[in-house]
Amino acid sequence: MEFQENIALAPYTTFKIGGLARYFVVVKTVAELVESLDFARDKKLATLILGGGSNMLIPDEGFDGLVIKIEIKNGITVDGTSVAASAGENWDELVAFCVDRGLWGIENLSGIPGTLGGAVVQNIGAYGAALSQVLTLVAVYDTKNNQVKMLSAQECAFGYRGSIFKEEEGRYVVLAATLRLSSTPAPNISYKDLQARFASGGQTPTLQEIRGEILSIRNRKFPDLSVLGTAGSFFKNPIMSRADAEVLKEKYPDMPLFSMPETEGVKVPLAWLLDNALHLKGYAVNGARLFEKQALVVAATRGTSAQDVKELVHVVQKKVFDELKIKIEPEVKIL
Ligand SMILES: Cc1cc2nc3c(=O)[nH]c(=O)nc-3n(C[C@H](O)[C@H](O)[C@H](O)COP(=O)(O)OP(=O)(O)OC[C@H]3O[C@@H](n4cnc5c(N)ncnc54)[C@H](O)[C@@H]3O)c2cc1C
Repeated sequence: MEFQENIALAPYTTFKIGGLARYFVVVKTVAELVESLDFARDKKLATLILGGGSNMLIPDEGFDGLVIKIEIKNGITVDGTSVAASAGENWDELVAFCVDRGLWGIENLSGIPGTLGGAVVQNIGAYGAALSQVLTLVAVYDTKNNQVKMLSAQECAFGYRGSIFKEEEGRYVVLAATLRLSSTPAPNISYKDLQARFASGGQTPTLQEIRGEILSIRNRKFPDLSVLGTAGSFFKNPIMSRADAEVLKEKYPDMPLFSMPETEGVKVPLAWLLDNALHLKGYAVNGARLFEKQALVVAATRGTSAQDVKELVHVVQKKVFDELKIKIEPEVKIL
């Protein structure tokens, strides 16, 4: 394990934006993680835990502390329908592994970049599924008590793109997670694009068919990461009371609304509003723009600064508030 100095962070993120890390280390074991945390404590450095860097915007000034990149991988263990893996495993490789073994539950989360650790922190979701629906146990390193702990799904306090790991930011490092999947076919094709593809066929789609369809929808919707920088959807969809959402719908009758079974609220599709109510698709600040195929996605041409992205985000937040009186929050972690 090597503590490197003045390392460019942009290549470690999918935005391809950001300055230098004062110190940078890759950890492959829990012992290395503990050693890195000790190093930071001794030198009085702030720490940043990095997974796949697919949900982060790093400032142009970089990070004046220790970046700890989690590459803890111990293979994937299957026990019946229970699947366990370490935090540094690539999320989509885990999905492909489960799909190949006939295990249902995460196929709708196909194609999301990043690591298992990042997926747990974010409680990733897509196409009517969320990781918290199948997550049973998370192993963490608790930096408050300096010990490894097991947290139940309930203790992780998952919500829409939220968890205890975001509420108590900096306290826990995710080490591993266990998922409870199902060997009984349980296709979740509630999402409109999936319904259009599968509902009329009369036959239950296979796991491979669902994964294939999701990967192809995502290819059409998200920027090609080899060409453009992005962190996926930049903003969270606003959650409103049903009464407020109905008032908005009177003004925009074509706007779809999504129930949130876990809350009393209704999820309002921000991409739809940005596109149809505010006509902001394609709106740009220098190299940063709201992506033409999906307005919730901020895309950045190579060489775009974090400042450009921040300015774009600020303008969008202001326009949404001024026109619709809705406060929108970033889903992406802005350092
Ligand atoms: C093209 C594209 C499409 C996307 N589509 C989706 C989507 O459909 N749904 C969705 O939910 N997200 C989506 N995302 C966002 C992103 O891929 C996910 O949030 C992903 O789970 C982040 O994982 P990561 O390893 O890259 O995390 P990072 O970006 O490295 O980190 C994200 C946050 O988690 C923390 N973190 C990371 N690993 C750990 C750990 N082991 N322990 C503690 N904290 C940790 C970091 O400190 C940071 O705060 C998309 C992103 C892109 C670029």
